[in-house]
Amino acid sequence: MPVSVGLDLYRLLVESVRDYAIFALDATGNVLTWNAGAERFKGYKADEIIGRHFSTFYSEDDRAAGKPERELETAIEHERVEDEGWRIRKDGSRFWANVVITALRDETGTLVGFAKVTRDLSEQRAAAEALRQSEQRFRLLVQSVRDYGIFMLDPTGHVVSWNEGAARMKGYAPHEILGQHFSRFYPPEDLAWEKPTMEIEVATRDGRFEDEGWRIRKDGTRFWANVVITAIREPTTGELAGFTKVTRDLSERRAAELQKIEAARRVALAETANKAKSDFLASMSHELRTPLNAIGGYADLLLAGVTGGLTSTQCEYIERMRRSQQHLLVIINDLLNFSRMEAGRVSYDIAAMSLDDAIAGVVSMVEAQAMQRGLTLDTSATTGVMVLGDRPKVEQILLNLLSNAMKFTDRGGRITVTPFETAEHAGVRVIDSGIGIPPDKTESIFEPFVQVGRTLTTPHEGVGLGLTISRDLARAMGGDLTVRSLPDVGSSFELTLRRR
Ligand code: ADP
Repeated sequence: MPVSVGLDLYRLLVESVRDYAIFALDATGNVLTWNAGAERFKGYKADEIIGRHFSTFYSEDDRAAGKPERELETAIEHERVEDEGWRIRKDGSRFWANVVITALRDETGTLVGFAKVTRDLSEQRAAAEALRQSEQRFRLLVQSVRDYGIFMLDPTGHVVSWNEGAARMKGYAPHEILGQHFSRFYPPEDLAWEKPTMEIEVATRDGRFEDEGWRIRKDGTRFWANVVITAIREPTTGELAGFTKVTRDLSERRAAELQKIEAARRVALAETANKAKSDFLASMSHELRTPLNAIGGYADLLLAGVTGGLTSTQCEYIERMRRSQQHLLVIINDLLNFSRMEAGRVSYDIAAMSLDDAIAGVVSMVEAQAMQRGLTLDTSATTGVMVLGDRPKVEQILLNLLSNAMKFTDRGGRITVTPFETAEHAGVRVIDSGIGIPPDKTESIFEPFVQVGRTLTTPHEGVGLGLTISRDLARAMGGDLTVRSLPDVGSSFELTLRRR
């Protein structure tokens, strides 16, 4: 009979299905049939389970809650019930199942039992769970990032998610900002030309938009931000789902950059100002020298008696004028030297030279003055060593040291000029028994315009440039100028030069 053949075939088919548990229950819920899938999922062989109530497959909690009975009742009422939940295998282990129970009725409509189809969803569930966990981890990660504002916009630009970094950067708590339009982060000048709209239009068109600019915090303050907007599309349809916005606060970086620019600008300004000052000093000194030389020259002529005899008083007055003129000339020369050096306009002609010769040359210039001042000048030591230097500049330094020694040593004192040499260097010490220099001033006296103990009322020669110039000259020639001194005992200035 075709029908019975059909039924057998159908039975065979059902029994051999391995991916679904398909079995029949009688009207009270006892198992009537069992297929390969049922055996595979639940672990019972047909003879172990047929005749037993289907609530065996439910957990104790579900049974206590009357779930199996309720499902049958629902199936009777609605013809069918579907459920997803934990079921128990023979060995007591659980699996996640999708269950469909269908009421079976005969031609008269009388309930004869139920068909139960169960699918083991453990794997799908595990996969879904893994996905959920990874999504959750990712969400947590994004959520907790503090240095980047990361949030999402819907396709029209309303905020739909908000992370910790965004809250920190912009000052809004999530509930204050979710649902708001993102244009509120922009300053008025950007809103005026609808920059926010433009940005999401570009992101929609190109997939991505990057920008750097001012953004506004909740409290109205501004911060300099780098912003990347990325369009998100549904993977299947390609439909625009919204945008991610990643914002970085660059205020600190920008402040640092501005600081650098400002510092560079100041240096440039200072250099310009310095150069202007040097140029001014140079031209001033030069202009002053010309008339001073004229004064000196005419004083000399008067003293030489070209206009006839002078009284001794007149002679003395002219001598005084002459000394003042000389003194002024020294000061002006210092200023000129200093400004030339500052402007880098000094050239050096370095050659091998005899230290003894340089000392002798300078000593001859000051001997008379030392005697006048009642000072002993001891220059007996010689060396024979050759050094590398620009002779006029070496003499300038020595002259300055000797003039200072004479200036700061009282009558009856002693000034000694001694050459010395080491393996690589040689030089001269100018030692005096004068007033000395306080220990805390031995460095500052080399700075321009520094004079120790000078007050407006103490008459004093010089402007405090001699040592500055001397040290600069010495260093430019590869040497140095240093001092050792004790107040009331004396000072020893040491000029070092390279040996040839
Ligand atoms: P100036 O002699 O024009 O004041 P310097 O630069 O030559 O300028 O010297 C700076 C200061 O150093 C002097 O004003 C003085 O206070 C101090 N000084 C220099 N040489 C000596 C010295 N031999 N003994 C004591 N003090 C000195």
